Amino acid sequence: MTDESQLNLFDITPFDAPPDPPSFNPELIPTRADIPIPPGTYTSVDELSIPCNQCHRCGLGANRTHAVIGRGNPQAPIMIIGEAPGQTEDETGLPFVGKSGELLEKILASVKLSTEKDVYICNINKCRPPGNRTPTPEEMAACKPYLLEQIRLVNPAIILLTGATAVKGLLKEKRGITKIRGQWFEWEGKLYMPIFHPAYLLRNPSREKGSPKWLMWQDVQTVSAKLAELGLK
Ligand code: SF4
Repeated sequence: MTDESQLNLFDITPFDAPPDPPSFNPELIPTRADIPIPPGTYTSVDELSIPCNQCHRCGLGANRTHAVIGRGNPQAPIMIIGEAPGQTEDETGLPFVGKSGELLEKILASVKLSTEKDVYICNINKCRPPGNRTPTPEEMAACKPYLLEQIRLVNPAIILLTGATAVKGLLKEKRGITKIRGQWFEWEGKLYMPIFHPAYLLRNPSREKGSPKWLMWQDVQTVSAKLAELGLK
């Protein structure tokens, strides 16, 4: 959809023309950053694929091969939110594939959690930043309405934020990831826990007590215990 036709959606209907009957057409959702996406715009996470693949709310839309929406169970009790797609994700349209994704699956399996049943995985930004750079605050803000719709639709009890950028994208928290990982935060009735990004664990393979991998193991056990406490496991 061109910018002009997006703006035309907001033209005032002439008095002599009856308004169109209300009906949902995801292709007509405005995708410019200055046009809001109110809560309740979408009825399923799958619907987001259409507007996100047409979206130019930020500059990242210019170079994408695929917008990366999410994978896993759309009714899962746990949502994992990462930063933005990398090259393989951009090519496949799926988040957390490749080595980081493999490690994440192993971490979840270590406490008997699976992406088919227990987890829905997505990112703060749906399109790949050039050279895998960190998304800017403006790019994160432009994409946030889609993420808020995903959170509303999946309605997880627990949200895990992988890495510092995911934390900055959602929580008003300035402390670094090493200071806040493993801690529970509460916001809008949901429990949030920052955890290390799997890519960081790949760069720090030690399993010694106190190492990033060891700390991740503590965190994932805490998450598993909380899920059981909530009667969701
Ligand atoms: S990153 Fe998000 S806001 Fe930016 S173009 Fe892609 S879908 Fe739109």
